Amino acid sequence: MKNIALIALIFFITGCANTTDSPQPDNQASHPGYQVNSQHPSQSQSERVRFLILHYTAANDAESLRLLSQGTVSAHYLVPGTGSPLLNQSTVYQLVAEDKRAWHAGVSEWRGRTHLNDSSIGIEIVNLGYKKSSKSLEWYPWDGRQINLVARLARDIIKRYDITPDRVLGHSDVAPTRKVDPGPLFPWQQLAEMGIGAWPDSSTIRHYLAGRAPDDRGSVRNIQIDLARYGYAIPQTGILDALTQQTITAFQMHFRPSDYSGKADAETEAIAAALVAKYHPDSQILRHPPESDMDI
Ligand SMILES: [Zn+2]
Repeated sequence: MKNIALIALIFFITGCANTTDSPQPDNQASHPGYQVNSQHPSQSQSERVRFLILHYTAANDAESLRLLSQGTVSAHYLVPGTGSPLLNQSTVYQLVAEDKRAWHAGVSEWRGRTHLNDSSIGIEIVNLGYKKSSKSLEWYPWDGRQINLVARLARDIIKRYDITPDRVLGHSDVAPTRKVDPGPLFPWQQLAEMGIGAWPDSSTIRHYLAGRAPDDRGSVRNIQIDLARYGYAIPQTGILDALTQQTITAFQMHFRPSDYSGKADAETEAIAAALVAKYHPDSQILRHPPESDMDI
């Protein structure tokens, strides 16, 4: 009996010793000098990524890759151009991991949120942009393969971070006084039909046109109000000042690319109203973040 007791004691001691070596539970992580217990994840949290911002590079493939991988700007993804063999293989470059900031948006604003590099994924697409002719700007066309590739990539990103359609934007939407990319030939409507980004309903546009011709004069004040409600950083002056005109141009490049002269016409007014009705029916003019986080 004594021996049995001794053996039991040995087992007990060994057992105790073993418990200290047993693997840690999943919600406990060891670090040098401290432990982290993640047993109580808070309900009050959301994704840091809120926006998807699309660009063109205004450079060829080699130059785009060099600028974005070795220069002072970057993007999470680079979609190759028409001349690249990667395009036929449906391959995009990832230049920055999605949990890191890429430097693509610069000084930027949407619905009162600024510094959008902090909260966005950036996709750069190889396209030369435009060349100036004597009369106007000549825009380089997009390759359908690029658009299909952007669509597949964007769809995944949108799903991963639950990005709402009105937060899929062009660089010119968030920096209308500085940028024109991805330009008026970018097929936003086609992408919206593929489930990527926002597009107004034509019946609602007709409703807000209220019998006016599309190129009738519109109300600058209404356009300023509705563009601000939708998300643009636009002055509320009631007059077509330079900033207002540039912002209307950015809006038109996205939603009414047949004429992006910055004119405050009736169709522009109706499109802006239709977008607000569809995506932000309850919004006020927003100069501050509408979703400011609670803090303690
Ligand atoms: Zn850009």
